[in-house]
Amino acid sequence: MSNKYHVVIIGSGLGGLVCGYILSKNGLRVAVVEKNSLPGGCLQTFVRKGVKFETGMHYIGSMDEGQPLQRYFKYLALADKIKLSRLEKTGYDVVSYMGDRYAYANGQDGFTETLSRHFPGEKSSIQMYIHRMEAIAERSPLYSFRNMEAPYWLDTTNMQIGVAEYIRSLTGDERLQNVLAGIMPLYGGIAEKTPLYYHALITDFYNKSAFRFVGGSDIVVQLLCDSIRRFGGEIMTGMPVTKVEFNNSGATGVTLLNKEFLQAEHVISDIHPAILMDMMDTPLIRKAYKQRIRSIKQTLSNFTIYIKFKKNTVPYLNYNFYHYPKNSVWDGHFFYMHMCDEPDQKTVRSAVLFESMAWDEVARWKDMPRGNRGAEYEDFKARKSQQMLLNLEKQFPGTIRHIEDYWTSTPLTYSDYTGTLEGSMYGILRDKNAHTQTFISHRTKVPNLYLAGQNINAHGIMGVIIGSVLTCGEIIDINNLTKQIKNA
Ligand SMILES: Cc1cc2nc3c(=O)[nH]c(=O)nc-3n(C[C@H](O)[C@H](O)[C@H](O)COP(=O)(O)OP(=O)(O)OC[C@H]3O[C@@H](n4cnc5c(N)ncnc54)[C@H](O)[C@@H]3O)c2cc1C
Repeated sequence: MSNKYHVVIIGSGLGGLVCGYILSKNGLRVAVVEKNSLPGGCLQTFVRKGVKFETGMHYIGSMDEGQPLQRYFKYLALADKIKLSRLEKTGYDVVSYMGDRYAYANGQDGFTETLSRHFPGEKSSIQMYIHRMEAIAERSPLYSFRNMEAPYWLDTTNMQIGVAEYIRSLTGDERLQNVLAGIMPLYGGIAEKTPLYYHALITDFYNKSAFRFVGGSDIVVQLLCDSIRRFGGEIMTGMPVTKVEFNNSGATGVTLLNKEFLQAEHVISDIHPAILMDMMDTPLIRKAYKQRIRSIKQTLSNFTIYIKFKKNTVPYLNYNFYHYPKNSVWDGHFFYMHMCDEPDQKTVRSAVLFESMAWDEVARWKDMPRGNRGAEYEDFKARKSQQMLLNLEKQFPGTIRHIEDYWTSTPLTYSDYTGTLEGSMYGILRDKNAHTQTFISHRTKVPNLYLAGQNINAHGIMGVIIGSVLTCGEIIDINNLTKQIKNA
C-alpha cells in the first residue's frame, strides 16, 4: 500500500482511536501510528499469572440509555458489544475520611439523601452542590446534546473558579468540604488551582450512572481498531513517530523511527503536546507557543500496586474506595478498585491500589534501562509497596493474607509506556489562576496540524471523546458529524 494518507494520527490512545474511527467512517484514508506493540495507551490491560489488570480505565459513567457516554458509544459502535457491570447505585464511590465512610449515590436525590444522613443540617448545600455540578456539565453542548449547532464551547467562567474555593463558598462545614472534594484523585487536583469545571464534569458523569467493564477496558481498543480497519484505515503498531515534517505552508506527514515517511494531508497528534513540540522544527510553530506548552505543569502521577488475590478469598467490592489519611483530602490519599471479570461476581482476583506520586521521587532512575533500573529502584518499590499494603490492611483487615502475588508501577512506567510527560496521570495541570495559559486548543497555528487526547478539552473517557469530535470537526464538517452522533 502507498504511504499517502488523508490523515496520519500519532498515538493510538483513546483520542487517536476515536479520531481514527470518525475520520475513516467518513471516508478518509487514515493511519493511526503507535510506538508500542499494542494499541490503546491508557486503555490497555495486561495479564500476569493468568489474571488481567486494567492500567488506566477502571470505571465509566453516564451509560444508561440516553445518557451522554451511551450516546457516543452507540455512534462508536461500542454500546451493543461491550459488557458492563453496574457499580452500587447507593454508593459507587466511597470516601473514607477521618474515620468515617461516605457513599456517593447515583442520581441527584440519592446523592443528597445519602450524604445528608451524615450532615443533617447541610441538606440544602448538598442539594445545591449536586445540581450545580449537573448545570455546569450540561452547558457543554457535546455533553448535553443541546445547542449542538454551536459545539465549540469553553466555559471560561467555571475555568476561573477553583474547586476548593467553590466548595468553601457553599458550606462552612470543613468535614463536608472534604467529603465533596473526595473524588479529587480522578483529576489529580490541586486545591487552589484545579478549575471547578473539571470537577463538575466528572462528578456529574458518574453521578448519572457508574459501571465497570466486564473483562477489561481493552475491549474498547479491539472494537475501535476493528471498525477502523473495516472502514479502510490502518493501525500501525511498534512504529514510534520521531518527527512531524513541514513545507512552507503546513505539515506534510510524519517520519518514523525506521526513517519511513508517511505523507498526509492532515496530521493529528494524540501524544503529550510537550513531547510533540520536540518533534517539530518549523518556523510555522512560534517559539512562544512551544515555550508556553513546555512551561505548563503536569498532573501528579502515581505508584500502583496490581494485586492478584487467591481464588475465592476476597469479596468483590462493587464500589471504588478513596481513603484520605490527613485532615485535608488535598494532602494525600490512596484509592483502591476491584476489577470485574464476570457479571455478578462474588469474589475478586485482581485489584489496583494507587497512591499519588510525584515524578521527582523517581526521576533519578529515568535514564536507566526499562525493566533493569537497578537494586536501589527495586528496593524503593518494595518499601513503598509494603507501606501501602499495610495502609490497605488497616482499612480492609485480613486482606494481605489473601494476596497471592503483586506487581508495581511508578511514574517511570507511565512515562515509558504512554509517553506522558513526567508520567502524569492526566497530562497537563489546568490552573484556574492562569486558565488561558494552561488551556491547550485542539487547533494549532499550522492549518493542517491538530491535537487530540487528554491534554485538550478534558481527560477521561468522556473528555477525550468530546475532544476528538472537536478535532475531527476541523477536518470534516462538524455539523454533519454532530448530526451523525445525535442520530446514532
Ligand atoms: C492510572 C489511571 C487511571 C485512570 N482511570 C480512568 C477511569 O477509570 N476512567 C476514565 O474515564 N479515565 C481514566 N483515566 C484517564 C484516561 O485513561 C485518559 O484520560 C485517556 O485514556 C487518555 O487518552 P489519550 O488519547 O490522551 O492518550 P494515551 O492513553 O496517553 O495514549 C497516547 C498514545 O500515544 C502513544 N505514543 C506516545 N508517543 C508516541 C510516538 N512518538 N509515536 C507513536 N505513538 C506514540 C503512546 O504509546 C500511547 O499509546 C485514568 C488514567 C490513568 C493514568
